[in-house]
Amino acid sequence: MDCFAETEGKRAHDPLYNQQRRPATGVPVDDVDIVVDVPGAVIVGAGPAGIAVGAMLGLAGVAYVVLERCGCIASLWRHRTYDRLCLHLPKRFCELPLMPFPISFPEYPTRDQFLQYLDSYARRFSVEPVFRRAVISAEYDGDSWWVYTREVIAGAGAGAGGEQAVLGSTMTVYRSKWLVVATGENAEPVVPEIEGAGRFRGQIMHSSEYRNGEGYAGKRVLVVGCGNSAMEVCLDLCNHNARASMVVRDTVHVLPREMLGQSTFGLSVLLLRWFSVQTVDWLLLLLAHLVIGDTARLGIPRPSLGPMELKAVSGKTPVLDVGTIAKIKSGNIKVVPAIQCLREHGVEFVDGRTVDFDVVILATGYKSNVPYWLKEKEFFSEKDGFPRKSNGWKGQNGLYAVGFSRRGLLGVSKDATNIVEDIVQRWRDMGYERCETKK
Ligand SMILES: Cc1cc2nc3c(=O)[nH]c(=O)nc-3n(C[C@H](O)[C@H](O)[C@H](O)COP(=O)(O)OP(=O)(O)OC[C@H]3O[C@@H](n4cnc5c(N)ncnc54)[C@H](O)[C@@H]3O)c2cc1C
Repeated sequence: MDCFAETEGKRAHDPLYNQQRRPATGVPVDDVDIVVDVPGAVIVGAGPAGIAVGAMLGLAGVAYVVLERCGCIASLWRHRTYDRLCLHLPKRFCELPLMPFPISFPEYPTRDQFLQYLDSYARRFSVEPVFRRAVISAEYDGDSWWVYTREVIAGAGAGAGGEQAVLGSTMTVYRSKWLVVATGENAEPVVPEIEGAGRFRGQIMHSSEYRNGEGYAGKRVLVVGCGNSAMEVCLDLCNHNARASMVVRDTVHVLPREMLGQSTFGLSVLLLRWFSVQTVDWLLLLLAHLVIGDTARLGIPRPSLGPMELKAVSGKTPVLDVGTIAKIKSGNIKVVPAIQCLREHGVEFVDGRTVDFDVVILATGYKSNVPYWLKEKEFFSEKDGFPRKSNGWKGQNGLYAVGFSRRGLLGVSKDATNIVEDIVQRWRDMGYERCETKK
């Protein structure tokens, strides 16, 4: 059974087509070349979240299409992460629904192993996204979602490397009852404006462009930020004999990745079953102090709330140390305060010191891109592009969000399961039968 009805040609000039309700997206009528009616769900994004939803919908016989701006699945992991990256959490907390990691994989799979897992996941469940198709706008017309897309003809469109996507002129609209937003919490790099950036003679890059420390030996590199990426980039640079400094301008919880022979994350999950979050935090901080010492003395002060409580209140994740703290203690990585401004050959810090640097790496995080394309304001916040309600996965009119709960891949699996159960129920209520064709 072919689930999709595609109409090519200038539908905009078809009087019947024009009589249909159309949302006021501001997209000129003449621009629409192809309309594809999807009887099930349109999923935007082919990262772990998008392919998990696709796999489960396919298995339940619900029609769907996955739209992805890059030319591959899991583009964040493939194109915007560093070579030494391993999953931060043990593999049992990172697997997608329906398929565990191979037993042969280590406790913390490498980036390449994770990609291998995702590739075989997509193959096993026949998830075949439409690649190089960027969603530029989406809006509900009172009956269906209209998802406006253009082909990406050059550039990954993922924002890395300053690479801008070049979009084709053909506009394809996908129409569906259900829209699943799977564009991720890390869709676009955050690049802060730093005074004097224009006059700095060295190289400035975002951490999404950093692959490894080759070529940095002997160079003075300033890493801006103190999250997981910043700490690991510093460690990698140090292992490649670069002279790394790390800007810490905020408080942050650093915990060892493992404590008492267990993963810190696993231990916290276990303890939270029995004790209050405050008691668990007290225990974690006591153990962290015994293992890595007082981080404040290294220039990395802790927030006043404990790590688990802070995570629950603000979504801020503790950093899991894999060796950076030891390098800071040995003086191989320097901790420096916030930047006042960039100078021609270096940086002036807020404490008045000026230090020369060859490279500045901005490990300043990522942001959601939902406000740029989704014309909806009730469920998603315009401010940060996340659902307004924490852990929110279901909005109005068949709108869903997967992977926005700030709980990593564990949250992705939970959202995907909830969403698919909901859509399958509605699909059956509407009297649809199994659909074997997904594209
Ligand atoms: C360096 C790093 C390390 C991490 N390590 C871990 C870890 O160890 N464990 C963990 O649980 N989590 C980790 N995370 C968080 C991680 O991002 C998520 O867990 C996971 O990738 C989320 O998957 P996702 O599908 O929601 O988003 P993504 O993987 O970001 O996928 C979103 C997809 O949507 C596509 N897209 C975006 N906008 C559009 C558009 N307009 N049109 C079409 N397609 C679009 C993107 O190209 C992308 O392919 C890490 C993140 C980073 C940056």
